[in-house]
Amino acid sequence: MPEQQHYQGDDGWAKICAYLDAIPEGKVLLLTGQAAYHNSGAEQNLAPYLAGRGYTHIYDFQTNPKIEDVSRLLSQLDDKHDYQAIIAVGGGSVIDVAKLLKAFWGNAATVESYFNGDDKLSPCALPLIAVPSTAGSGSEATRFAVVYKDKEKFSIEHDRLLPEFSVVIPSLLTSVPPHVAASSGMDALCQGIESYWSIHSTEESRRLAKESIELAWISLHKAVIEKEPEALAQLARASHLAGQAINITKTTAPHAVSYALTTFHGIPHGHAVGLLTSYFLQYNALVTQADCLDSRGAIWVKQSIHEIVKILGCHSAEQAASAITQLMEDLGLETNFKNLGIQTEQDITQIVDNGFNPQRINNNPRRVTREALYQVFR
Ligand SMILES: [Zn+2]
Repeated sequence: MPEQQHYQGDDGWAKICAYLDAIPEGKVLLLTGQAAYHNSGAEQNLAPYLAGRGYTHIYDFQTNPKIEDVSRLLSQLDDKHDYQAIIAVGGGSVIDVAKLLKAFWGNAATVESYFNGDDKLSPCALPLIAVPSTAGSGSEATRFAVVYKDKEKFSIEHDRLLPEFSVVIPSLLTSVPPHVAASSGMDALCQGIESYWSIHSTEESRRLAKESIELAWISLHKAVIEKEPEALAQLARASHLAGQAINITKTTAPHAVSYALTTFHGIPHGHAVGLLTSYFLQYNALVTQADCLDSRGAIWVKQSIHEIVKILGCHSAEQAASAITQLMEDLGLETNFKNLGIQTEQDITQIVDNGFNPQRINNNPRRVTREALYQVFR
């Protein structure tokens, strides 16, 4: 796997300028969110430098990008040979869009031909500098990009989609609205937990995931509610570590099912994942040899769940699940499915029908059945 250059600190802007100074002259493609780029102070720090170099600024796209958005943006871009780098400053979706452009810009493979199965992915060689403006997705540390096609979520992956330089600037997080910070912070915590119990976990991924869960757990409330600088730096670190961990293991059942909650009920990603992680923590704790998907066996999985429970300062999976739910409530996130619009049998069936993304659900340590999924929402 390729190595990534990484820096975390409030003086990250100077590091970005130094990085750009060291590469050949040429324009920069800048991708940002709409309001956050200005409100976070990113613009103030970056625009003067980029003005001297020449840049194209793209910010007119939505969260959870669709393949049509990617095609539209690509059709607006000029010749990639005038450019020397891509910079993405924003949340997970902004960084994902930057990866998607990198994957298809100026290539023979188009988004459509790739999804039709006619072409292989061959991302362009422009270095990508990723600067997350929320703490959560860890997208700056992964080789994956999420894109939606006809309401269905896909994850594309390629080693060259791992950003060449990731720069985490904790002070950027100060201006994130509380409900966004709460949801993305839950994503960081849950990605750590899912990576820890993933059937693909390795010694390295578990070390990264453990540190990430510890940091997210102690910092989430202080970072989201009080915006305490030290807690923001810890949560930013947790998010990056969880990204590194899932870059090895990928995510599991809570992520697989969460996309249906986001697509059909508009529940923000981290919020949806948080609801499901608290459920699947208890579900996975009851794994048996008969329904265990991890080749290391049910005892190994139970031990892993026990370790997660301990990291959360609890004694049982039920207690840990309650603690996660309590944290979500303290962060102002609704935890009742009915109040979130999942009310009828039809609503539940729609989620169950769409929640079995095989790219993710088979990474879960315990086999997930339709019946088990029905139980979550009843
Ligand atoms: Zn996530």
